Amino acid sequence: MADAVALIVAAGRGQRAGGAMPKQYRMLAGQSVLRRSCMAFLGHPRIGAVRVVIHPDDRARYDEAMAGLNLPPPVSGGETRHDSCRNGLEALAGDPPRIVLIHDAARPFADRPTIDRVFGALDTAPAAIAAIPVSDTLKKASAGDRVAATVAREGLWRAQTPQGFEFAAILDAHRRIDSRSLTDDAAVAEAAGIPVTLVAGSEDNFKITREEDFRRAETLLAGQGDIRVGTGFDVHRFTEGNGLTICGIWINHDKSVTGHSDADVALHALTDAVLGAIGEADIGSHFPSADPRWRDADSAVFLRHAVSLVTARGGAIRHLDVTLICEEPKIGPHRDAMKARIAEIAGVGVDRVSVKATTTEGLGYTGRREGIAAQAAATVRL
Ligand code: MG
Repeated sequence: MADAVALIVAAGRGQRAGGAMPKQYRMLAGQSVLRRSCMAFLGHPRIGAVRVVIHPDDRARYDEAMAGLNLPPPVSGGETRHDSCRNGLEALAGDPPRIVLIHDAARPFADRPTIDRVFGALDTAPAAIAAIPVSDTLKKASAGDRVAATVAREGLWRAQTPQGFEFAAILDAHRRIDSRSLTDDAAVAEAAGIPVTLVAGSEDNFKITREEDFRRAETLLAGQGDIRVGTGFDVHRFTEGNGLTICGIWINHDKSVTGHSDADVALHALTDAVLGAIGEADIGSHFPSADPRWRDADSAVFLRHAVSLVTARGGAIRHLDVTLICEEPKIGPHRDAMKARIAEIAGVGVDRVSVKATTTEGLGYTGRREGIAAQAAATVRL
């Protein structure tokens, strides 16, 4: 049962990480940090809504970053992190949840087990936070880099987020406590006398603060995901005519090709490659040639549909590669336009598309100029 709201605090300016925009809007492997931070909470059965607190100047960036997620409108943050948090809590007060999980937008790797541990502790406690016991020896410095003392680490934890609270209690604490010098919401709860329970966080749930944290995040993401490769193959027969469509590009020629749709051999092979990567049936099952809707259809429809099936699984196309096998027409002059068109249809960068061509040295059906063949590979990350 959904009895909680996740409040994602994204109003900071993030100057320590450098860069032209606040760090929570920077991209990590194709998705903004903020979107990734929200996704961890969106599918959780206990969480009825995800509400984001943003800097008012960032509305356009927010809309772009969160496109398609269908969230309630963002809340405007304040001068400090705690003003922003309080604004977020006040925005929820009209229809208060039982539980609120407050989470830093700069922590894109909050995992389900950590969130579940916070919820678990909240069954018997009014406040619970993810944290990591300190394992390094701690030094206190004086005069810059001179060690003044070694600090006993026993009982010390590094606080992370999410930090979960009974909503009414933390809202009351934020209203009563002057929290401007406090650096997390648990400290506000402590100052209000609310007991706070520690649960295990995760080392991967780190906060992106400096430039090197972005590199760590990219490395982490590069090791994640289910990488799939699919292949496709298609042939169309030459017939009389004045040209043909290959890779979505019309080419004037003294022949045409037969087929039910626009007979684009390359887009058909690519569509099958994408479908193959996600274990789907072939293009003919999705778009039967007996169906009059696909007569003379633009084959971009087929490839776009296959890509949408990948997206619906939370995946992304990493690379599309097609080889055309024919004696004619000449592909070279059209290669750049073909790559650009495939990239446009599939919604990927042109550097993730390859179009190549070869002959079969006069051998076989392509060598006898009876038709044109295409083979394709698609790499997909789920
Ligand atoms: Mg075909």
